[in-house]
Amino acid sequence: MTACITNIQRFSLNDGPGIRTTIFFQGCNMDCTWCHNPETLPHAPVLMFYENKCIGCGKCFTVCPVGAHKIVDGKHIVDRKLCTSCGKCAESCFSGALVMSSREYTVEEVMKEIRQDKLYYDLSGGGVTFSGGEATLHMAFVEALADACHDEGISVAIETNMAIPFYHIENTLRKMDLIMCDLKHVTASVHKEFTGIENHMIFNNVGRASLLGIPMIVRTPLIPGVTDSFENLHTIAEFLSKLKNILYYELLNFNPLGSSKRIAIDAQDPFEACRPFSNKHLEELKARLEDTKISIKVS
Ligand code: SF4
Ligand code: SF4
Repeated sequence: MTACITNIQRFSLNDGPGIRTTIFFQGCNMDCTWCHNPETLPHAPVLMFYENKCIGCGKCFTVCPVGAHKIVDGKHIVDRKLCTSCGKCAESCFSGALVMSSREYTVEEVMKEIRQDKLYYDLSGGGVTFSGGEATLHMAFVEALADACHDEGISVAIETNMAIPFYHIENTLRKMDLIMCDLKHVTASVHKEFTGIENHMIFNNVGRASLLGIPMIVRTPLIPGVTDSFENLHTIAEFLSKLKNILYYELLNFNPLGSSKRIAIDAQDPFEACRPFSNKHLEELKARLEDTKISIKVS
């Protein structure tokens, strides 16, 4: 069994408690316009071109079987309409300017990476987090990895968008020691406009997951002008205050780090001009939400 994985990030501190290894899976069933891992959205590996690393050796022009590398107005571009994502140019590019977003791994290959940091997980209360993309699109692989981790005494968590019918993901969720998910917007039409899908199933699934007896962390990414209104956050906090097993509600500051990756895959960045919120603003938001009685964290 294999799965396409974009990155295995060791010593991760932002994807759950303690020191973690985060596994980023290729492919997502949502299309959030602010995603800071946009290369994980397509369901197959995609070619990424970091122009600033190109040394102009010309190798990619000679190996590409479809002539997708072109000079247009004196600028090196990848013609996305021609590119078949075969990966030949990335294999030949020694400067790191061309890379494929993911490659296939077996469970044992991933476990080899994971077990290197067992000591750090044990000392810090950390473990492994399955992320993406949407990890539950690879549920058989994720379940096999979760079982392998548990066999070696390693705790596992999942970051999921909860946008898949509950009966499909329930078994996968039940194997987790921690579930992390987002509630982005309470208004279905706004949710659809910025993520590609409405929010009813997501809210419903969060409610059902909270009955599994597994600790949960629910987050809202603070996207300027979209999710960051007090009314939106307060309605979500009130919804969560009625559920069981929620460790805390986390407000995630705007993360502009996806910008360079968007450029590398020739994707638009509608939030290019946005910047993270100040700590003062985050603390003020947190204070205003305290009447909902849910534990709130800002990060
Ligand atoms: S192979 Fe890499 S370094 Fe050489 S021209 Fe192509 S992108 Fe630039
Ligand atoms: S991935 Fe393949 S098709 Fe696409 S530009 Fe590179 S060599 Fe050409």
